[in-house]
Amino acid sequence: MENVESANNSGINSLTDPELKIIAALRDAFNNYVVVSCTRCGYCIPCPNGVSIPSILGVLNEIAYWGDRARMGYNQMAKTPEDLNRRREGGEQVEGAATLCTQCGECLEKCPQQIEIPDMMDKANYIFRDGKDITEILEIDP
Ligand code: SF4
Ligand code: SF4
Repeated sequence: MENVESANNSGINSLTDPELKIIAALRDAFNNYVVVSCTRCGYCIPCPNGVSIPSILGVLNEIAYWGDRARMGYNQMAKTPEDLNRRREGGEQVEGAATLCTQCGECLEKCPQQIEIPDMMDKANYIFRDGKDITEILEIDP
């Protein structure tokens, strides 16, 4: 709805050829960079179980690009409901890991990118919890 409203306000053919070329180049760069097409819009949150969906997908994209050192962002997330509650009660702005996902499917219809979020949380668990290499779990261009 936001995208349609924005398009409605800007009018037809309002972009110049150089602007269109820049957008095409950015789109190609974006497509080469990401393994999960999450735009971090946040429409899928809050998850009823505290899973920080956009952050987890963001870390997946980061380790696909930067390698394992980007796992740091995930390591700090709460891995169990008890840990999440305890840290929240302590005033910490803690994020929830993929291990909190119960596969309830509530997030699915909220994602405009139609990402199979529960499936991606499973994949994130293979990578972060079980230590699998991301190339074993997701398709990545070398
Ligand atoms: S499927 Fe997982 S990530 Fe999605 S809403 Fe349910 S618990 Fe949260
Ligand atoms: S709704 Fe989809 S695109 Fe938006 S943050 Fe959630 S997973 Fe990413």
